[in-house]
Amino acid sequence: MNRLPLDDDIIDSIFTFLPTFADLQAAILTSKAFYQVFETRPNSTMRAVAYNVVGPALPQALRVLRFHLSQNISYEMCYNKNLPAPESNYDIERFILPKETFGLVENVKAVRGLEDLFSLRHKDRRFESSQLSPEESHRFQSAMYRVMLYCKVFSYRRYRMYRGFIEDRGAVGIDPQVFEEREVVLSDYGTKDLYEILSLSFFLKDIIQDTIEVFDVEDSNELDTILSIGPSSIYYAFKDSVVAFNAASNDVNESLDPMDLQDTYPSLCGYISKPIEFILEQREGKKVSRDDDEVRYAILKAENIRGEHDCCDQCGQDAGFDLFGPSTYNYFGKTSRVLHVSTLRSLLPGKLRFNTHDRFNSYLTQDFWQNRNEIAFVAVLEWIYDGHKSSEFEAWNKDDWLCEDCVQHILSAHLHVWLLDLMIKNGEAVLEDCWYGYNCRTQTHSQHHATRLNHLCVQTRFR
Ligand SMILES: [Zn+2]
Ligand SMILES: [Zn+2]
Repeated sequence: MNRLPLDDDIIDSIFTFLPTFADLQAAILTSKAFYQVFETRPNSTMRAVAYNVVGPALPQALRVLRFHLSQNISYEMCYNKNLPAPESNYDIERFILPKETFGLVENVKAVRGLEDLFSLRHKDRRFESSQLSPEESHRFQSAMYRVMLYCKVFSYRRYRMYRGFIEDRGAVGIDPQVFEEREVVLSDYGTKDLYEILSLSFFLKDIIQDTIEVFDVEDSNELDTILSIGPSSIYYAFKDSVVAFNAASNDVNESLDPMDLQDTYPSLCGYISKPIEFILEQREGKKVSRDDDEVRYAILKAENIRGEHDCCDQCGQDAGFDLFGPSTYNYFGKTSRVLHVSTLRSLLPGKLRFNTHDRFNSYLTQDFWQNRNEIAFVAVLEWIYDGHKSSEFEAWNKDDWLCEDCVQHILSAHLHVWLLDLMIKNGEAVLEDCWYGYNCRTQTHSQHHATRLNHLCVQTRFR
């Protein structure tokens, strides 16, 4: 019995409501009496707090953390004799070590972040945070941890030596033993689980594709190779900007010494999808495609999806999840080919986009906007609606949901005026307008002319 006016059971039950491991630690350190209460039931208390942190997908989250390669096997070996045991209650019942809590918290961040993105892209674009129902969220998170485990077990690092290896054997395509190992691991899951995993592998590849599309990397085999870096790396690469994505993709490429993708990555082509499709075909007796309802609605219930066919408020085009509004700006700021700051200049009128000498160029760089912690095209839109809208756009409203074509249309009509305003605000000297304005050809080849006159204006003579 402690010397506090509280029963030990009450203290114990308070512990089980703590939302984070840090709160639990702080509570235990408050007094010796609290510590003693914790010591009587450390296991159930840790499990209860872990459940509060992770949620119902805790067994899958623990399984990811607790898979370790045995000591005499390295990540350099392409065959894996050390496959994870099937999912069981064993993982949840084992004591959660304090050091495991860090890994749990790290993975929770990535899985929740991905759930937010999934919700934004597939359930309800009006919110940046997840709108998944408790059941949908549970399905999403369990499946995402299962993908995470798969990428840990079949790490791309394992196949570094693979090329030489298959050449020695004169084999083509994926090695049957590697394929079998994957099949063994995935066969432990029920059919519904496999549809969920497959559906999330498509979602992750979409993020990769949307993000690196900016750099024109578009190859389904390449998407698979990058998928093998795993959900956490994909999430952080997306979050920390596209540059990190290229680094991640280079990491995979370098470690695999690519020559021809199909030949070089037989072990990563169809990384998750091929073995699942193989198992499902055997179980269901039919080929599985991405458009099947079992895949499309593996995580979300069809009737819960909102705004899938919503139209653009200006042109009426059915754009659904691709509509632009405050909740989707961040996503498109990273993924749009045209609206990304590095490509925004292509929307400038006349010959301005070919003028590489003018000071305005330094305002259309990634560095400039990253330092300001703003998304360039969003700053332009806000400026337009903040009293700078030209009369042609009288009927356009700040809270319109717009398709990408319409966003481009309104931006390109204002971009040069905004740029000039921004430069003046930043203390740039006001130059005399060139008579030809943005249509001037000389600005594209004469540095002297381009730096002497302003071209962010309309043509006033010789029209
Ligand atoms: Zn439109
Ligand atoms: Zn000129």
